Amino acid sequence: MTNYYEKEFETMPRAILERLQLERLQTLAGYVYEKCDFYRKKMDESGIKPADIKRLSDLKKLPFTTKQDLRDNYPYGMFSASMSDIVRVHASSGTTGKLTVAGYTQNDIDIWSTVMARSLAAGGCSRSSIINVAYGYGLFTGGLGAHYGSEQLGALTIPASSGNTKRQLQMFKDFKVTTLCCTPSYALYLADEMEKEGYKISDFNLEQGLFGAEPWSEEMRLQIQDKLGLKAYNIYGLSEIIGPGVSMECECQCGSHIWEDHFLPEIIDPETLEPLGYGKQGELVFTTISKTGMPLIRYRTRDLCSLIDEPCKCGRTHVCMTRIIGRSDDMLIIGGVNVFPSQIESALFTMKEIEPHYQIIVDRVNNLDKIEIQVEIKDELFSDEVKNLQNLKSQLEKNVSSAISIGVKIHFVSRGTIERSQGKAVRVIDKRRI
Ligand code: ADP
Ligand code: ZN
Repeated sequence: MTNYYEKEFETMPRAILERLQLERLQTLAGYVYEKCDFYRKKMDESGIKPADIKRLSDLKKLPFTTKQDLRDNYPYGMFSASMSDIVRVHASSGTTGKLTVAGYTQNDIDIWSTVMARSLAAGGCSRSSIINVAYGYGLFTGGLGAHYGSEQLGALTIPASSGNTKRQLQMFKDFKVTTLCCTPSYALYLADEMEKEGYKISDFNLEQGLFGAEPWSEEMRLQIQDKLGLKAYNIYGLSEIIGPGVSMECECQCGSHIWEDHFLPEIIDPETLEPLGYGKQGELVFTTISKTGMPLIRYRTRDLCSLIDEPCKCGRTHVCMTRIIGRSDDMLIIGGVNVFPSQIESALFTMKEIEPHYQIIVDRVNNLDKIEIQVEIKDELFSDEVKNLQNLKSQLEKNVSSAISIGVKIHFVSRGTIERSQGKAVRVIDKRRI
């Protein structure tokens, strides 16, 4: 049976959901026009007034918002609410540059807690879950986002944060943790330590994990499930929109439901900025239609994915998005060919000998781009015949090369060589930029 948190909203018939979205969009357009100088100016420049939003499709008349706009208006210039109504700020982890700030009113914190509670419920959690939040606490939205959602759901919440891994494993066992929330790379790190410390899956009560904050592949999911003995779910979000809980997989795991009564999604062509239809891959764009602190209109996430035009078996009516294949700004251009680290990851992990730790090193030698991938393999393979190791290497080089349409060199390293991450992993070292 499907486990909902707010069944009425999660299963709302499309026609009613769309009416609610339109009402909220109209209110939002009026609100930001009145409260936020940035949006009033932008809307005036494009000759649009709040009253011009008559149907949902009028969304495309509104201007886009970019990460650069947030930077230009650092720190508080994008807020619509008055400063005395802002109760919290977060800032993006700055993976791709200077900090961007997000401000929340109490209304926004409540919405966030609710969408996170929905997300936890979609992953099978309930009041009787014991949830270990191992996302970092602080300016990064992962920790506090999951924390408030877990409490809102009524579950037992352990504010572990990331790090102190041995103690976390002890808590898994002693506190009978059922649910793990962290980045997929930290989940693998925990799995490594678990093995080193001599724990077995049966020492724990883990049922599910909600993993996100960085791209990860289907193949990585299988590795995590296998090593930790839980069902691994994909959760997505970004601080500019609210934090984790913008979208979440349900038990069907055929994409992640976007909580559409709060976040209006679009997919656009990042070059022409034209909206694309269902099934077409492009840049994900969100309009927050219920937030009051720092609502954003048509925010360009730079994350690439597509929307799925099929009703989900779980009964939720909110549209699903596919996995993020990468950000438009972590796409590598190697010898003129576009490559996403996630394509490499999928090709690597189809072979069972490979450990789920890798690093991509790009360099330019004599004006030619070269790509080398360091991959960890199981230790026993090093004592194997050289011939077998060579075969494995060439097979892997073939698999990856054909997945990305350019030649790669694989370099095997022993377990533990590649630096582990307790937050977001750094997969690519691009020496051309150094
Ligand atoms: P940043 O990493 O830009 O400093 P955030 O900490 O807010 O900012 O992270 C949000 C970004 O993390 C998203 O825009 C997306 O690129 C990535 N992300 C979050 N969840 C997922 C996920 N489940 N799959 C892939 N990428 C994700
Ligand atoms: Zn579903």
